[in-house]
Amino acid sequence: MGRGQLHPQGDRRSVSKDSGRPKDDATRVVSAGRRKEWTGGIVNPPVWRASTILYDSVAELRARVSDTHHKLFYGRRGTPTQWALADALTELEPGAEGTFLYCSGVAALAAALLSVLSPGDELLLVDSAYDPTRSMANGLLKRMGITTRFYDPMIGAGIADLIGERTRAILMESPGSLTFEVQDVPAIVAAARARGVTTLLDNTWATPLLFPAIAHGIDLTVLACTKYVVGHSDVMLGSVTAAPGHFTKLRDTSLQLGQVASPDDCWLGARGLRTMAVRLKQHEASALTIARWLQQQPEVAAVLHPSLPGCPGHEFFLRDFKGASGLFSFVLQGGDEAARAALIDGLEHFGIGYSWGGFESLALPVDPVRYRSVTERDDAGPMVRLQVGLEHVDDLIDDLSAGLARFREAVSSR
Ligand SMILES: *Cc1c(COP(=O)(O)O)cnc(C)c1O
Repeated sequence: MGRGQLHPQGDRRSVSKDSGRPKDDATRVVSAGRRKEWTGGIVNPPVWRASTILYDSVAELRARVSDTHHKLFYGRRGTPTQWALADALTELEPGAEGTFLYCSGVAALAAALLSVLSPGDELLLVDSAYDPTRSMANGLLKRMGITTRFYDPMIGAGIADLIGERTRAILMESPGSLTFEVQDVPAIVAAARARGVTTLLDNTWATPLLFPAIAHGIDLTVLACTKYVVGHSDVMLGSVTAAPGHFTKLRDTSLQLGQVASPDDCWLGARGLRTMAVRLKQHEASALTIARWLQQQPEVAAVLHPSLPGCPGHEFFLRDFKGASGLFSFVLQGGDEAARAALIDGLEHFGIGYSWGGFESLALPVDPVRYRSVTERDDAGPMVRLQVGLEHVDDLIDDLSAGLARFREAVSSR
């Protein structure tokens, strides 16, 4: 399936008609994937739920088998509700061929990896990867005879030394989960290309708006749409967008695995996407204000945020990213588990829970040392990860300020 079929209007969609200037992200998220032939005059594609599709004749049924792309065939192959979101995500990645959707971000990672790896292959996986990604490598992939070597997120061009005869794929995540190291993606991509190795990126933190992955040479880019695309903490959804030459295998693997994302969830995902650019701007502004404020607090030993000069890979962030999102961590100065819990438990606006990317703030105790194989950490105290939501930043700072006072009290009463 070529790009032409996915985008009958060609590249005109991403370029302003009058000036030839590339359309701004805010404009692209509003227009992407909206096709009149699927929705008539309706602004949002309705929820098309289906398993059985009825045909007028045996001849029509037979004819459809060989041509199911963007035609109703059987529910598992999707309906315009799913196609509209997949198309929108493809449009947001300049140079991409197509997108497949999944029932979660982890399911998307599994399909992307299984579309590339076979028994006997080796995967290079960044040491700062999302914990369930590590579990997949050490569990399912290992059981299938696929070995994994972890690499230091700051390896850059040095990855060339790790690429061996059996290395088939490199899975990056930048910035890293919990600790936010920014990788030199172009250097890793160049080393991979020179050796015919496929590159994958978990781009959930940045989304294509802050880091267009395919344009940076990535072959398969994965999003936990559960986070910023959905944006409202009420849907599980994932996507993989493929560069030319990688989509057919991704789609075939995904269909063989029986993957289908629910039309209801895709409808909510498409709805969330329309406001993603404006939400990301606010997440970035508030998170950065809080990160800088935290840097000034005596109870805080370090703030791990790609926009701050102390963050490993900050120079790559400045070079490659269009901005930051709203998730970062900070390290407390001394203190133990109980002192950290005193900080977090009393917070009013920050909920205690997994996931992120929704409209509401979250605070999570995180312990990255548990999830590292080849890199060490020597942190001054326990770590807290913040998802900064859309509440007013002054209220969030007041909340954290009271939290740090509770932390101080817990430390001094020992
Ligand atoms: C949450 C997350 C995922 C998994 O997404 P789910 O939809 O929760 O399965 C993958 N990668 C990163 C970086 C995440 O934060």
